[in-house]
Amino acid sequence: MADNALKRLAQSRKPGRWLIAAIESVQESHGAGRVDPGWFHPSDFGNDCDAFLAFKFLGAPAVEDISARSRRIFDHGSGRDYYLKMDVKKAGISLIKNEADRKIVIPHLRIRGELDDWVQNPSTGRRYVVDFKTMNTTEFKALEAVKVSHHRQLHPYMYNKETYEGYVLYEDKNDQELKSMPADFVMTLWQAEIVDRIDRVLTGIRHGLVRRNPPPNDSRCPFYNICSIADIKKLLEQSGLEL
Ligand code: SF4
Repeated sequence: MADNALKRLAQSRKPGRWLIAAIESVQESHGAGRVDPGWFHPSDFGNDCDAFLAFKFLGAPAVEDISARSRRIFDHGSGRDYYLKMDVKKAGISLIKNEADRKIVIPHLRIRGELDDWVQNPSTGRRYVVDFKTMNTTEFKALEAVKVSHHRQLHPYMYNKETYEGYVLYEDKNDQELKSMPADFVMTLWQAEIVDRIDRVLTGIRHGLVRRNPPPNDSRCPFYNICSIADIKKLLEQSGLEL
């Protein structure tokens, strides 16, 4: 058991607290998160900040403090993804024959990633890219259309699979109710928010100047500690990437 958990255990007077402390000692993490220099990942386009995309692309030093509770929230989402993929396969509508079929690579845009599912409607023969998301009850009840950031994320998957229709399947974390929101390919969105944005970010990296559009909670950004002091041109040199 980690030292911090032992300390919490020693301080606790509540019965059974030791059990939670022991579990949480392995759930908390402090690290660099996923690093894949030279590539943009579809989920990263959900973040509106160009500097965030640039730092990810450059493999800049990130700090991600994941609390035990956040880890449980992420694990819940990943667990639901796993079971939904199994269920889509069992339903006989998945076009994914092996795990390699989930991988997408768009070399000229330096995008790579992995989609959740790719399905075919048995009655119409139409194909769709599908992404799974979980959300809290309040958000779920208010949801009337696909969230903008999720719609954006689906575009590289649809482009790669040449499948221009999609859904985001939302699940309420509380009662497991489902909502399937259409998220079709929109050419103007693809051009402005993916293709042109990548061009702007790469040009910015070359010139050492990228837009910073901090979201309200940007202190949670893994690059928060380096953001105002980072030298983008130097990070590019250190990465060894050719642009
Ligand atoms: S700390 Fe804020 S401004 Fe800097 S990269 Fe992150 S989101 Fe963007």
